[in-house]
Amino acid sequence: MNKIAFITGISGQDGSHLVEFLLSKEYKIYGLMRRTSTDNTWRIKNIIDKIEIVSGDVTDQSSLDRSINLIKPDEVYNLAAQSFVKASWDSPEYTFNTNAIGVIRLLEAILHFGKKETKIFHASTSEMFGKVQEQPQNENTKFYPRSIYGVSKLAGHWAAINYRESYNMFISCAISFNHESYRRGLEFVSRKISYNVAKIHLGLSDHIELGNLDSMRDFGYAPEYVEAFWKMLQLDNPVDLVLSTGETHSIKEFVEEAFKVVGIDNWKDYVKQNPKFMRPAEVDYLCGDSTKAKALIGWNPIIRFKEIVKVMVDSDIERLFRGDKID
Ligand code: NDP
Ligand code: GDP
Repeated sequence: MNKIAFITGISGQDGSHLVEFLLSKEYKIYGLMRRTSTDNTWRIKNIIDKIEIVSGDVTDQSSLDRSINLIKPDEVYNLAAQSFVKASWDSPEYTFNTNAIGVIRLLEAILHFGKKETKIFHASTSEMFGKVQEQPQNENTKFYPRSIYGVSKLAGHWAAINYRESYNMFISCAISFNHESYRRGLEFVSRKISYNVAKIHLGLSDHIELGNLDSMRDFGYAPEYVEAFWKMLQLDNPVDLVLSTGETHSIKEFVEEAFKVVGIDNWKDYVKQNPKFMRPAEVDYLCGDSTKAKALIGWNPIIRFKEIVKVMVDSDIERLFRGDKID
């Protein structure tokens, strides 16, 4: 019998890569999507007829209860989030409602309407380390979030642990470091850079405006991360794991590397700093230690910084060249 997976956040970057991975494993897949006024299925449009979309929202308990009761999934992947850190200063209450209380709502739905043996994956984040207390960061590093996004994800993380301990539910959390792909949202720095460098290369723009170029991130490749999510649920016992490459690079290096892809060395001539893109509190440095993930699930990310930048810039050039609608 095919396993049944229920994915929240299926229309997002990770959701779209995960659904492709699970289809290759012959899962029957249900995805939760909220109503939007314009179509936002561009990341999953090639496979949408192979999955079932369920209408709902993690801020709405009844929609989660109904979904879980109907589907009775073997595996749940909770990826839904207000995932853009900067927006959490603009909409702090909404961010907390989605990212923290949303986790509690989903876990309540599974507790009351799911199967006893349902396995749950929850997407936690390196933003919980925030103002980092040690380098590199591992599963035992103390948390110090620097945004309501980080605070909300930390609350969601502890809620997941609490339901695991209170009700003996199988819940595993990945503390993922930044992971990117050609499907990253345009507001995130990696995709903003790849898209604007592609435009400059094609003569469609003459500069890019960015904020803080000095922060450091541990950039990985999203398709490899979603495979780790699945592997975590194939274990006999739940576990929390750091997923990272162990390499860190500044935003400046990302910009430099992206311009190199299109043969431009004097990148500084094309970059303007705009205070609008600075944050009230910054996460200066992230670098993860995934020794435990390697040991427990045999996970070792192969695709590294330069290749990620190249894949993203090349993809944006191709899409602009073809005249695709850019999302
Ligand atoms: P995206 O922003 O690309 O996707 C987020 C998804 O959540 C979208 O499908 C979005 O739907 C959905 N969503 C948002 N709000 C709600 C809601 N109220 N109800 C139902 N669905 C909702 O994020 P990623 O795919 O990059 O990230 C996936 C998860 O991993 C998130 O939880 C994120 O916080 C976490 N994470 C991501 C990292 C990364 O580097 N990518 C690093 C660490 C953690 P819609 O299309 O309608 O907006
Ligand atoms: P985050 O790590 O989840 O916050 O992912 P982002 O891609 O949004 O930001 C990564 C880093 O890039 C942060 O330190 C930002 O301050 C920095 N950054 C610099 N300029 C920009 C910009 O124009 N947009 C975004 N999103 N981030 C920027």
